[in-house]
Amino acid sequence: MRKETSFLIVGAGAAGCAAAKCFAAARLAPEVVLLEQHSEPGGSAGYFSRGGPRRTFDAGATQLIECQSGQLQELLYSMCPAKDQKASWELFEPIPQISQHWNEQNCAVILRSDGRVIWSSQRSATEEEEKDLRRLEKFLAMSGKEADWMWQLLKEIPRFPPQSWADIKRALELFGKVPWIKKISFPVLFFLNAEKMLRLYGIRPNSLAYDVVAGLLVDTTQSSPQKSPWLAAAMGISIIRRGLFRCRKGMRGYFRPLLSSFEQNGGVYTPHSQVIRLETHPDGFLVTSRDSRSGELAEHLVRSAALLNLTIWDIASGLIPPEDPLNKNKVFKTWSARAAQNKGWGAFALYALVEDKPEWDDVPQYLQLFPSSTDPQALQTPLYVSIPARSDQANPSGFRVLTATLHVAAEDVSEQERSTWKQVLMARISAALNARLESVETATPATFARYTARKNGQVGGIPLALKNFMFFAPPSQLTHPTNKKCKLLLIGDTVFPGQGVVACSVSGIAAFERATNLTFQSIQGKTFGLANGQ
Ligand SMILES: Cc1cc2nc3c(=O)[nH]c(=O)nc-3n(C[C@H](O)[C@H](O)[C@H](O)COP(=O)(O)OP(=O)(O)OC[C@H]3O[C@@H](n4cnc5c(N)ncnc54)[C@H](O)[C@@H]3O)c2cc1C
Repeated sequence: MRKETSFLIVGAGAAGCAAAKCFAAARLAPEVVLLEQHSEPGGSAGYFSRGGPRRTFDAGATQLIECQSGQLQELLYSMCPAKDQKASWELFEPIPQISQHWNEQNCAVILRSDGRVIWSSQRSATEEEEKDLRRLEKFLAMSGKEADWMWQLLKEIPRFPPQSWADIKRALELFGKVPWIKKISFPVLFFLNAEKMLRLYGIRPNSLAYDVVAGLLVDTTQSSPQKSPWLAAAMGISIIRRGLFRCRKGMRGYFRPLLSSFEQNGGVYTPHSQVIRLETHPDGFLVTSRDSRSGELAEHLVRSAALLNLTIWDIASGLIPPEDPLNKNKVFKTWSARAAQNKGWGAFALYALVEDKPEWDDVPQYLQLFPSSTDPQALQTPLYVSIPARSDQANPSGFRVLTATLHVAAEDVSEQERSTWKQVLMARISAALNARLESVETATPATFARYTARKNGQVGGIPLALKNFMFFAPPSQLTHPTNKKCKLLLIGDTVFPGQGVVACSVSGIAAFERATNLTFQSIQGKTFGLANGQ
C-alpha cells in the first residue's frame, strides 16, 4: 500500500519528537507522518516498564539542561501544549549538585550549581587535594563563562553544521558581532583540546581535579580531555552552571506530551513501524516500513522532506539501495565509509530499586562513581547513577528507582561478563550509597541495538573529536537528485555526535526550519486552543 505525505519523520527519539512538536506548533502536523520501530518513544532517552505493580525505568538519558523558563528545552515542551499537559515547572525538577565518589579513596567531591566545589569524606583533604579543588573551582568558572557565549551563538546559527556558502557567510556575520577579545581567542581556542586548557590551569593527569573534569566529559561529550575540542568541552562542562534537571516520573513525562500535542493537532504517529528501505523516486523519496507485529509493508511517498532520526551507521548499513543516486553524494559516502569502520561506543546499564532510608534526605540525584583499580578493564570508566527525589511519583513505596549507566566498547558482552559486571557495579553503588539494591536488571550494547535499532548498540553517535566537530561534521542535508525542493534531513546523534538530548532537540528544530522555511521563533508565541480546552 502506498501513501503520500508532505513530511515524514523517522524515529521518535529526542530529535524526531522535537521536530514533531514543531510541526504541531506550526499547525502543519496533519501533513506529517512519524514512524517509530519501537512500542514507546524516546529512543536512547526512552523508558520501559516492568512487573506488577508496574515500575517504569529510564532506559538511558535521565538528565536534561536548558529547562528553565525561556530556555530551549522548556520552550519546546511548553509551546502548543497537549491537553492536560503539566506546566514545565511541574515537570522539570532541578538537581542542585553533581556528586563524584571514589570508593577506593573513600572520598567525594561535590560540584554545586553556585560554583562551589566541596570535599566530602571522613578524612580531611590533603594540602595537594585542597589546592586541586580551588584550581578546579577556577577552571569551572572560566569554562562556564566560555560556554555562555557559545550557547548564545548556537541559538543564532541558522544551520548547524554550515552546509553552504550562505551558511558560512551567516556564521562570519555572527562572528563579526562577538566582542573583539573573542575574535582573537576563538581561532586559538578552536584548535585546543580540553587537556591543553586543563594544563594551562595547572590541572595535571592523575590528579583529583583532572578526574572530575574527565568524568564530566565522559558524561557530556562522550570523550576524554585529550579528544574533546575545547569549545565543545566547555559547553559540556557548563552543565551545572546552566542548571541540571530531571523529569519528575522520568523521561516518559517529557516524551508523551510532545507526542500527544503532535497527535492532538492532527499528526499521524505510528509505533511498531520499522523503516527498512529509502529510495529516490521522481516525485520525492520513497520510504518503506514494516509493521513489527503483522509484518505488513507500507510505502510512503514523501513529497517535501524526510527527517531521519537515524545514525550514520544505520544509513551506511544498507538502508539505501547501492544503486540509488543518493549513494553517489561524495561527502556522504566518505562519512558512511568512515562510520562503518568506526567502532563507536555502547552503554552498559543497570536498573534497580534502591531501599529508601529514613536518613536519606540528601541522597545525590546525580552521582558519578569512579572505578577502583581492581575492576575489570572494561569497567575502568566512571559509572553514572541517577536517582529521583523522594517525592517523585516514579518511586514505589519504600524504594527509589535507580538507573546507572557506563560507557563500554560497542561489542558483544558474554553472559559471564554481564554477570561479573553486574556484581561489580552493584557493589560499587551499594558501597557509595550504603544501601541495598533490589530487582536489578541490566542492558548491554546488544540490548541497545535491539531497543534503538542502532548497529552494534552504538549509542553515542560518532565519538566527538576535532575532526568531526562543527565545520567538519557529517552532512545533515541531502537534496533530491532532480527535485531540488525535496530534502532529506538527518537529525539526532548523527548531526550532533554524542551531545545529548538538548543538542538532538536542536537538530530536530533546525531540520523543521529547513523543511518548512519557518523559524522556531515564529512558531513559539502562538497559542492554539487545546491548552485552553477549546
Ligand atoms: C545510557 C545513556 C545515557 C545517556 N544519558 C544522557 C543524559 O543523561 N542526558 C542527555 O542529554 N543525554 C544522554 N544520553 C544521550 C542521549 O540519550 C542521546 O544523545 C539522544 O537521546 C539521542 O537522540 P536521537 O534522537 O539522536 O536518537 P535515538 O534516541 O537513538 O532515537 C532514534 C529513534 O529512532 C528509532 N529508529 C531507529 N531506526 C529506525 C528505523 N529504521 N525505523 C523506525 N524507527 C527507527 C529508534 O527506535 C529510536 O526511537 C545518554 C545516552 C545513553 C545511551
